[in-house]
Amino acid sequence: MACETMGRRQSMMDKYKLQMKALKKQRGKVDNTPFLPEGGVVYILDSMNPEMPVRAEVLKTTEVNRRKVISEVACPLCGASMSWNPSWEGFECREHDRKTVYEILKTG
Ligand SMILES: [Zn+2]
Repeated sequence: MACETMGRRQSMMDKYKLQMKALKKQRGKVDNTPFLPEGGVVYILDSMNPEMPVRAEVLKTTEVNRRKVISEVACPLCGASMSWNPSWEGFECREHDRKTVYEILKTG
């Protein structure tokens, strides 16, 4: 008896998402909501090149439960505004050939 599971074609995107998820798991479960730290200084890092954190220019914040959450930062490479992508837990810039995802650098 053939039991056929739905063969979902895995796009590059999905693969990437899975990789990111695995990475997150390795690092342990944390609340990844991008809260604006006190003082407003935020560092972000290229998820593909996490050795080099850069200071982020916060463009937009929203308020959630009386805490400020970063909703947009400027891309350190091209200056375009990047919005938060909750499924990747990062800010993504679409202006480059290679999709660039920046994670918030956790401090403290
Ligand atoms: Zn960019």
